[in-house]
Amino acid sequence: MTDKTDKTGTLNDAEITRYARQLILPEISDEGQDALKATRLAIIGAGGLGNPALMAATNAGFGHITLIDDDVIEGTNLNRQFLFTPDDIAQPKAEIAARHAAAQNPLISVKARTSYFDETIADEVMAGHDIIIDASDNAPTRYLANRTALAHDKPLIFVSAIRFEGQLAVFSAPLDGDERAGCYECLFPQTSSIAPVANCATVGIAGPVTMVMGSLAVLEAIKLVTKAGSIGTSLAGRLMLFDGLGAHSDIIKTKRDKNCPACADL
Ligand SMILES: [Zn+2]
Repeated sequence: MTDKTDKTGTLNDAEITRYARQLILPEISDEGQDALKATRLAIIGAGGLGNPALMAATNAGFGHITLIDDDVIEGTNLNRQFLFTPDDIAQPKAEIAARHAAAQNPLISVKARTSYFDETIADEVMAGHDIIIDASDNAPTRYLANRTALAHDKPLIFVSAIRFEGQLAVFSAPLDGDERAGCYECLFPQTSSIAPVANCATVGIAGPVTMVMGSLAVLEAIKLVTKAGSIGTSLAGRLMLFDGLGAHSDIIKTKRDKNCPACADL
């Protein structure tokens, strides 16, 4: 589609072909694709959100992706975790998903980590990656990812889905060093009286909602890395509330809490 003989970046011929339809986007271009290639992305969770996030990031050309999940595939996952088949049941989610991704795009590096994201690996994950997508499904992981991302000054993209609804936000400092947005804990304070968080096992989840939200999380990651973030508008400091049943979404501003125990001293 394009003559890139005057390119000065790092892309080889195979990459120029594969990413041709992104390269002609002025918001991405060679420069942005080079930056994507150099980016180390960690995705926490290989479930309903992690599946589409992994595939979107894989095909966008993030050069180094790590998928973290200690869970195994169950039959009840198959309405939304579309990288998995009935033959994969009882196999590790991270390994099966990463295998698909590696086959989908041999030009990048995809690693599976079959560990639970806890204190034993959190610092290492944050230190070794440039952007983190939290596609997990439980509060302890959310808070730990938030605090360690803050400690390492790494952008954290939060994404969730339940029933027909999704949430998406960018926490922590964007890569260009703009003023820090509020953190996950500013928005969702930890309190001992907080009600148990509903999960998809008890209230259900519509598969297409996870696909939408997982893909949008990667779109935010692309915007953080490329010029699209400065030309467009990041979700840093803002929360998207997607209502699939009502076919609309709202964006609300999120404020930094000066008393937030996670980020007030930063
Ligand atoms: Zn905070």
